[in-house]
Amino acid sequence: VWGNCLAFIQDNIQPQAFKTWFEPIKPIKLTDKALSIQVPSKFFYEWLEEHYVKLLKVALTKELGSNAKLIYIIKMENKYGNKEPFTEQIPSANRTAVGPQELDVPITSKSPELKNPFVIPGIRNIKIESQLNPNYSFENFLEGDSNRLARSAGMAVANKPGGTSFNPLLVFGGVGLGKTHLAHAIGVEIKDKYPEKTVLYISAEKFTQQYIESVKKNTRNDFIHFYQLIDVLIIDDVQFLSGKSGTQDVFFHIFNHLHQNGKQVILTSDKAPVDMQDIEQRLLSRFKWGLSAELQSPDFETRISILKNKLYRDGVEMPDEIIDHVAKNIKTNIRELEGAIISLIAQSSFNKREVTLELAQQVVEKFVKNTKREVSIDYIQKVVSDYFEMDVATLQSKTRKRHIVQARQLAMFFAKKFTKASLASIGSQIGKRDHATVLHACKTVDNLAETDKQFRKYIEDLSKKFS
Ligand code: ADP
Ligand code: MG
Repeated sequence: VWGNCLAFIQDNIQPQAFKTWFEPIKPIKLTDKALSIQVPSKFFYEWLEEHYVKLLKVALTKELGSNAKLIYIIKMENKYGNKEPFTEQIPSANRTAVGPQELDVPITSKSPELKNPFVIPGIRNIKIESQLNPNYSFENFLEGDSNRLARSAGMAVANKPGGTSFNPLLVFGGVGLGKTHLAHAIGVEIKDKYPEKTVLYISAEKFTQQYIESVKKNTRNDFIHFYQLIDVLIIDDVQFLSGKSGTQDVFFHIFNHLHQNGKQVILTSDKAPVDMQDIEQRLLSRFKWGLSAELQSPDFETRISILKNKLYRDGVEMPDEIIDHVAKNIKTNIRELEGAIISLIAQSSFNKREVTLELAQQVVEKFVKNTKREVSIDYIQKVVSDYFEMDVATLQSKTRKRHIVQARQLAMFFAKKFTKASLASIGSQIGKRDHATVLHACKTVDNLAETDKQFRKYIEDLSKKFS
């Protein structure tokens, strides 16, 4: 069927266009009157829909009759795939190396019940890649007093997604204590037990970006539909939604829909619900419906077993004395704990020397220091733009709209406060302004901080993110 379609299409378009847009398509299967084709990227799919949908329709109708359907299956993309899907195809084997957080949610469309012969963006059914990292399994998530409750709640949810009173399950705790790992582990386990369930892991940041994008492109409804199709939704770092009322609002709707339909929601956050700021009350009350379980700092024994497990998995041996030293000095962050041991392993193999206690001391010391990094102007712009739910380009633009001007002035103010950059350098990096503009911005912010309560709140919120 596809061969015939192709022949027809080839007769009707330029050879170059045919080569570019139709040769890469793979026919996958034909069921009833629905032909599934695989396209290399979402971009590719959009291009086809935009430029060749009529042609495809005619070709397919000729072959399959008037109620033919076309189903696109989109190969998973990563962040490179979006921009240059043709020059930088990443083979699927490499994908696991990229953290799942880095991947865009690939939207794979599928439309079994569609009446209309053609897949209309927005009403199609969607198949979703989970974005789960198989290395973040329960098996690798060592148990200790600090995580026992959260871990076993996670297991319970994984055994019966949507079927426990832990809905939503909210896992909270400080940086590097295993929230992301545990969130993945639950998803991985569910996928394992219930392969037919649609599981999606996404960071709240990515979720927000997608939402903003959908508003820009006028596809907000598609966005909502997409999320309503999921059986198990895992949103990491929901504190990121604080102050973002648009995104919170849409999440509230999605949450209600999923919850009412017995779907499982898993959330992580760096704070307990009671301590979350600038999250709407109605959303907070939803968070409290289920179970909030804390991940605490691991005790000494757990730190030791995490280190030993890491060494064991890497096939490296190290004297107990060294392991002890690391575990004693890095207490509140498992990521740092792992970082230090990885760095020790690397040092010893590069320099081909025994890991001495002295070396361990150096590494640990450096490691603890290095994690306190300086904030950059780029980072400040990103944080401020996120906070006001706009993108950096908007923040830098020439527009005089009040809220954008304010955001820009705040970014300049924080750049002055938290970096060592000169006024001129700050100006040039924030939308090519001169030093006088930056100076004026700093003064304006100071003034507003005194006179405007709301504005003072912005400053307080944002300051926390930089200090
Ligand atoms: P968070 O999301 O809370 O900042 P992560 O989930 O990214 O923390 O965890 C940081 C690192 O610590 C990851 O490499 C993770 O695998 C590891 N880790 C966290 N908790 C455990 C645990 N209980 N057992 C083994 N490794 C852990
Ligand atoms: Mg995390």
